[in-house]
Amino acid sequence: MKTWVYIDHFKGQAMPASWEALGAGKNLGTVTAVIFGQNVEALAKEAFENGADEVLLADDVTLADYRAEAFSSSLSKLAAAASPDAIFLPTTTRGREIAAMAAIDLKTGVMVDVTAIEVQGDSIVVTRPIYAGKLLSKETCSTRPQIVTLRGRAFPKPATQAGRTSTLTKVSPAMSEADIKSKVEGYTTAEAGVSLIDASVIVSGGRGVSNNPALTPPGGLDEKQTEIWRAQQGFALVKELASVLGAAVGASRAAVDAGYVTYSHQVGQTGKVVSPDLYIANGISGAIQHLAGMRTSKVIVAVNKDTDAPIFKVARYGVVGDLFQILPALTAAFKQRLGK
Ligand SMILES: Cc1cc2nc3c(=O)[nH]c(=O)nc-3n(C[C@H](O)[C@H](O)[C@H](O)COP(=O)(O)OP(=O)(O)OC[C@H]3O[C@@H](n4cnc5c(N)ncnc54)[C@H](O)[C@@H]3O)c2cc1C
Repeated sequence: MKTWVYIDHFKGQAMPASWEALGAGKNLGTVTAVIFGQNVEALAKEAFENGADEVLLADDVTLADYRAEAFSSSLSKLAAAASPDAIFLPTTTRGREIAAMAAIDLKTGVMVDVTAIEVQGDSIVVTRPIYAGKLLSKETCSTRPQIVTLRGRAFPKPATQAGRTSTLTKVSPAMSEADIKSKVEGYTTAEAGVSLIDASVIVSGGRGVSNNPALTPPGGLDEKQTEIWRAQQGFALVKELASVLGAAVGASRAAVDAGYVTYSHQVGQTGKVVSPDLYIANGISGAIQHLAGMRTSKVIVAVNKDTDAPIFKVARYGVVGDLFQILPALTAAFKQRLGK
């Protein structure tokens, strides 16, 4: 099978899920990495070291910033000419967008957020979680190319071979600057920290992080400000544990909606879908929409005061208790164990 893999990156920094997708493509036969950007030749080298048999590289000033129309049209133009059997992309925001737009150009379908792939005859059959992860659906696509977005951390990263190289083919972008409607004026940096999608450990907080009646807030705060102040004390404990473990910080939607942390931390159906090795949920009840974003975590630990909280149904280890006591104890134990 001839598979293309779109390498998603930001300013030349590849998303780790791109290499996972490359590894999945390599398992099916020959794999071509498709790279768009400006001054990104180093990515081609990385692609070869991660197993690419060929790299198609469009290195051009019009591709310096990601713009959906320019990137997707370049992909579909190349694919229309070369007819790969399948195109894989990581399930990132950009990956989803390009997949959908290229599929329209190529009059084919997209199978998104896939967690397993097998080949039957000349077709790819994918497995993807549906209904908030309650069911696994097996699907195939009758048109070609079969476009698939692969969930991050659901596929292993290929072993790299330093110095490995192969055929580099330079290609041109499909659109000129005059034809591209959107312009990127600049970027603002989001909060620093470990990226949720790529994290192998995530420590999350929910509404329960604001629930410590023993804390006395400073005077002069109204009810909402008091709640936020309390949540900040709780999230400080979540962040401290995360820092000791080198983990990313996650949150439930209730915590995000209440203004405790920004949306970029939200895990769940309307937030990020994550699959870390370890997910520690603190003061999170385990609503179906939250589980949709984290139930494929390899080990789930839940800290909750309520013995009947649904999160305990998916947790490997459940701690029934007050997070304001449990979290500092956990952090101290990890610090000691890790010599920090
Ligand atoms: C369309 C739709 C999409 C949604 N998308 C998402 C999504 O993407 N992500 C998401 O998370 N939710 C999502 N939700 C919301 C979801 O239904 C829940 O409302 C939300 O997940 C609840 O967040 P929570 O568990 O933090 O809060 P709660 O349900 O209020 O739970 C708080 C928990 O904290 C525990 N607790 C309280 N104090 C302490 C303490 N001191 N120590 C230990 N435990 C304590 C309580 O026992 C309780 O279990 C969505 C809802 C809808 C309708």
